Amino acid sequence: MTAPVTRAVVKALTADGADVRFVGGCVRDALLGRESADIDIGTPDPPERVVGLLGRAGIESRNVPRGLSHGTVIAVCDGEHFEVTTLRRDERTDGRHAEVAFTDDWQEDASRRDFTINAMSLSPDGTPHDYFRGQEDLKAGRVRFVGDPATRIAEDHLRLLRFFRFHAWYGKGDPDAAALEACKAAAHTIPLFTSDRANTIPRLSYERAQKELMKLLAAPEPTSSVRAMRDIGVLARLLPESRWTERLARLVAIENQVAEPDRIRRLAALVIDTNYDRPFTDAFWLRASGEIGRFVSLVGVSNSLILHLNRHDPRHLIYELGPAQFRDLVMLAWADQGNDKASRRAMLEIVDTWEPPALPVRGADVVARGVKEGPEVGELLSKVENWWIASDFAPDREALLERLDTLVAERRRG
Ligand code: ATP
Ligand code: MG
Repeated sequence: MTAPVTRAVVKALTADGADVRFVGGCVRDALLGRESADIDIGTPDPPERVVGLLGRAGIESRNVPRGLSHGTVIAVCDGEHFEVTTLRRDERTDGRHAEVAFTDDWQEDASRRDFTINAMSLSPDGTPHDYFRGQEDLKAGRVRFVGDPATRIAEDHLRLLRFFRFHAWYGKGDPDAAALEACKAAAHTIPLFTSDRANTIPRLSYERAQKELMKLLAAPEPTSSVRAMRDIGVLARLLPESRWTERLARLVAIENQVAEPDRIRRLAALVIDTNYDRPFTDAFWLRASGEIGRFVSLVGVSNSLILHLNRHDPRHLIYELGPAQFRDLVMLAWADQGNDKASRRAMLEIVDTWEPPALPVRGADVVARGVKEGPEVGELLSKVENWWIASDFAPDREALLERLDTLVAERRRG
């Protein structure tokens, strides 16, 4: 908030004396000493005036869809984006979206925000404005709705999921009891996954709901939220396969010792099931995010791999799967059995210290032995490779070429 680029935007917006403030997540994060992904700014000025003020200072502004009617303008300064939003109150809601009216009343704007910790604002001179005891809640790790939880959830069902997400990131101990009760009563509004998309409640899309779950899973300590969601039946609606909450809890504890939190690995911990072998379709929202490949390969190999991890030389698996996937699978196996700590740790030590070698021969070597380019080259190469792996990567290039000569000769003899 003190960065020169931010100051320039604030200066532009306050040129005619408007009471402009930082709002929402960046205020909360600043109070915690955490870095914020984005900085949101609130202003009593309507969007047309915001565009004018930015223009006068030579700052580019961009519209977002429905931005002008909702009061949001994006200021682009030195490549940084700032969301500038006119103070507003919700007039009518339909369970997800609101019709809004502009206001110049800061408290009114704070009242429509979801949680007390998200409803604070901060003047550019550093003066905090806290209408609902957000600072106190933030310190205590209490994620509390602004106003009556049931009403706020009925206005926008996404808030039910946001509640668990923010509890995971900012809460301590058990979730707020009043909020939890309201969430439980509204659990049936969360879209139920079914392959028949027409069955989902249209107001809150399935994709939107699962995106919230993924943000939740990225939190340092998601366990309390996930257990609570399981207990009130929300988790099973979002992701029917997600039964292994206790395995997730163990994985989180393991990550705390040996790795960074990872939401895809955590999702895998929730869903991997040894009896589950139909194609994994229920996580289709991941497809759009580009993470589906990693997820599917993790789930795809894990069933058999967790069972076989003990029987193979870890280095053979590291070579075949790559260090990152091997590491994921060891942690999942460790979380699955819980007790095999020493051997799992030893496997992670191997992957930390051992660099998989590159196969010292290539396709050109096969072709040089008179084999026509085509599938045969690949077949011979993989035979040599398998022999090399089985020999513990010990044979050098010379030995591999000798082996290749033998294989080519065998093939010629038919
Ligand atoms: P993050 O770090 O995850 O971006 P954030 O607090 O910035 O956290 P956003 O989803 O970006 O969260 O929303 C910005 C602010 O807008 C919130 O802090 C909150 O005040 C308000 N807000 C967002 N979504 C809702 C909602 N569904 N209902 C009420 N207020 C909301
Ligand atoms: Mg944000």
